[in-house]
Amino acid sequence: MTPIQPTAARPPPLASTGSTAYIGLGANLGDAPAALRSAVQAIAALPATRVLRWSALYRSAPVDAAGPDYHNAVVAVQTALTPHGLLAALQAIEAAAGRERPYRNAPRTLDLDILLFGGQVLDTPALTVPHPRLRERAFVLLPLAEIAPEHVHPAWLAAVQDQHIERLPAAWCEAV
Ligand code: AMP
Repeated sequence: MTPIQPTAARPPPLASTGSTAYIGLGANLGDAPAALRSAVQAIAALPATRVLRWSALYRSAPVDAAGPDYHNAVVAVQTALTPHGLLAALQAIEAAAGRERPYRNAPRTLDLDILLFGGQVLDTPALTVPHPRLRERAFVLLPLAEIAPEHVHPAWLAAVQDQHIERLPAAWCEAV
């Protein structure tokens, strides 16, 4: 008879505590949807972090810039990282995706912004939370409203309704 093996102890769930943060993703060079998909996977692989939800993919015209259209999305994460720890991790993901900053608003392979981090309000040299341009951009507000309507005032949506943006119905991100 096969002896009964003790059940292996399960590791505790990752990031069961911590903060809910919302990350804006954008790209307008190369295969932008693929870049965003890879970014979600990289975010899901961060320590003490799990991806809770993601919006649909949106396509938008560049704001204050030339170049191809952007693809954008927003993901919600639960993370035990600090806000600055999360920023550093997102910047490493951007760098790994080949992100360069030759000039302000240059086209980019990947842009990751912390939109909200728990209820925190931060204004440091490296990090401002909520993101300072959160309310100005349809490509942030529409996907954020999809996954966290409680954080988007209807008046903000009304104020950006002239911005060109299209919601893409196709699934773009597998379960992570
Ligand atoms: P960008 O070129 O749009 O990716 O801006 C990156 C710069 O914005 C970096 O120097 C960050 O330190 C700074 N920054 C300030 N607040 C935030 C935020 N909430 N999320 C991401 N980057 C931020």
